Amino acid sequence: MAGRHAAPTRAETATPHAGTDVVVPGRRPTPPGGRRATKKPARAPKSSRATARDTPRRPRRPRLRRIALTLVLVAVVAGAVPVVRHVQQERQAAAEAAALARAVTAESERRTRAEDSQLRTSRSLTAAGRAVAERMKILADCDSGGDQPSGPNGRLPASALCAIPGSGIELRADAAEAWASLQEGFKEAFGRYPCVNNGYRSYAQQAKMHAANPGMVAPPGTSNHGLGLALDLCTASDGVAGSSAWDWMDAHAPEYGWALPSWARPGGSRPEPWHWEYVASGDRVS
Ligand SMILES: [Zn+2]
Repeated sequence: MAGRHAAPTRAETATPHAGTDVVVPGRRPTPPGGRRATKKPARAPKSSRATARDTPRRPRRPRLRRIALTLVLVAVVAGAVPVVRHVQQERQAAAEAAALARAVTAESERRTRAEDSQLRTSRSLTAAGRAVAERMKILADCDSGGDQPSGPNGRLPASALCAIPGSGIELRADAAEAWASLQEGFKEAFGRYPCVNNGYRSYAQQAKMHAANPGMVAPPGTSNHGLGLALDLCTASDGVAGSSAWDWMDAHAPEYGWALPSWARPGGSRPEPWHWEYVASGDRVS
């Protein structure tokens, strides 16, 4: 029995066909040597194992440090945002304050200039006021109060006219008072009254002068001389542009309400630097 049904040898049972690969479905092929490969991964080569052992595992502390550092950075950024906003607000406030300071400085300078101008005007008016006090004694009979007649041109009533000191030239009362003040100022500068040769002209006088010199003298009824609001300085002396007297007039006449019309100025359309007009009343012929 043992011979016929002898149990197979261990080798036959285990490896009936040693050296050949019998693939059993669902089973991994038996590797050479008869042992099945374990699930364990192949061990790394010795050199690799040594390297792994030599490389220390990263300790946890650096990771914690990174986290802490990140938290710190987040905190810093979170804290910095309001700081940056605060700095921006501070800068904006500083810029606004600087702009305000510039505006205040500009306004202050403007007011200072205006006050200087007012002071100069006040001083000149004070000088004019002193002259008015003197003039009032001279023009005591001149009635410049109330509305002044503006026409008819060349036909003003005698009551509307006043003679100015020195020359006896007549002007409308208000213009005569203003000129009297002016010539007091002129006298302070030059020690004499300005040389005047013409003031109010009646219609007949204007017609006669126009006929004699139509190119230079306005037709009757159209001149400010006919309203008692124009005056001619002596054409050969104080009426000469550029003379010291004329320069004084050019600088100070407006302080007394008198001015040289633009057409009569040197370089004007009809230069007559001797022809001055009383502009303060505002009712002259322009
Ligand atoms: Zn004139």
